[in-house]
Amino acid sequence: LAPWEDPRAQPLIRFRNVTKSFGAFTAIDDLSLDIFEKEFFALLGPSGCGKTTMMRMLAGFEAPSSGVIELAGQDIAPVPPNQRAVNMMFQSYALFPHLSIWDNIAFGLKRDKMPKHDLNERVEAMLKLTRLEQFASRKPHQISGGQRQRVALARSLAKAPKLLLLDEPLGALDKKLRQDTQFELMDIQETTGTTFVIVTHDQEEAMTVASRVAVMDHGRIIQADTPDRIYETPNSVYVADFIGDVNIIQGKANSGEGEGYRIFWSEGQPPLQASSSTDLSTGQSCSLAIRPEKVAISAERPEEAANAVQGKVLDIAYLGNLSTYHVELPNGLVIKAQTANTRRISRRSFTWEDPVWLSWTATAGVLLAN
Ligand code: ATP
Repeated sequence: LAPWEDPRAQPLIRFRNVTKSFGAFTAIDDLSLDIFEKEFFALLGPSGCGKTTMMRMLAGFEAPSSGVIELAGQDIAPVPPNQRAVNMMFQSYALFPHLSIWDNIAFGLKRDKMPKHDLNERVEAMLKLTRLEQFASRKPHQISGGQRQRVALARSLAKAPKLLLLDEPLGALDKKLRQDTQFELMDIQETTGTTFVIVTHDQEEAMTVASRVAVMDHGRIIQADTPDRIYETPNSVYVADFIGDVNIIQGKANSGEGEGYRIFWSEGQPPLQASSSTDLSTGQSCSLAIRPEKVAISAERPEEAANAVQGKVLDIAYLGNLSTYHVELPNGLVIKAQTANTRRISRRSFTWEDPVWLSWTATAGVLLAN
């Protein structure tokens, strides 16, 4: 049982009805959230939704206007930033340029007057953890950007915080290096058992590294869940749309036979079949959210498809491993269908203006009340 599913598990961090206002503006709005020990927790959301404000409150640079933040069961409000078992990893440009890598990592420990023997051991362990042993005597400008990022991480973990806050830690790295570094970050998090909270603009990054992802909007958490559940069962159109690509079909629901619903979505078209875990009343307006890779594209109408609609190909994006087709339906709606190019395709299967069928199963989409 994951800690967030276990009602008896004690959270490491608890936000209880936290509100943060700047003058008349509410940056964090009555937010409650539990984060558990050893989690790699990601905060995701559009610019200005309050991610950094959450981090700054945890670090102690801002205080909530109301509500309480607890660390291991204790209200952290009276604890000054430097006495919290919380550290914030700053981007690599916050390294001291005139100090060696070794001294950069040792800096905070020396300031805390850690005994020399312990300090040496600790720095060596951090160098090993981040695979920087051979660079110990170099200065920051004598190593690569990715290595500097690892020094920043080593430095922020040196004092063994309970909680490490990472605000866009990989923002300065190019895509390939960023992806490699994500796996390193996961390894290091697992090895140390430190709880990580990361802020990132990159939803793929959040999905890759995180045990759970919180999708925020206007100072609130809309959904906090595992990456697969956020993707497969978003609780709202907002979340479905924020993570990955999605088709949204608007309609009205009628409960059908069994557990499913029939969705009336376009005049003259048969209703769509969809199952739903939420209860909808007859005639209720709803949105059917379907990921492009759940939509099949074919020349003939597939037999026994729960849902099949005809359209014509508007655009094709060839991405190497995948192809995405934009297909226009008779009512003007454009649906995206994505196919995996598992075999070599010498000729595009469909081209512009081709009449095609799109089909999907009754469980392919998520039905959401509007
Ligand atoms: P980004 O992704 O752009 O970094 P964010 O989600 O981290 O955004 P925050 O930095 O937390 O957003 O800011 C949330 C909101 O609070 C923003 O609208 C911001 O303008 C506002 N805000 C943050 N700090 C202050 C402040 N000191 N005074 C006034 N408003 C502030």
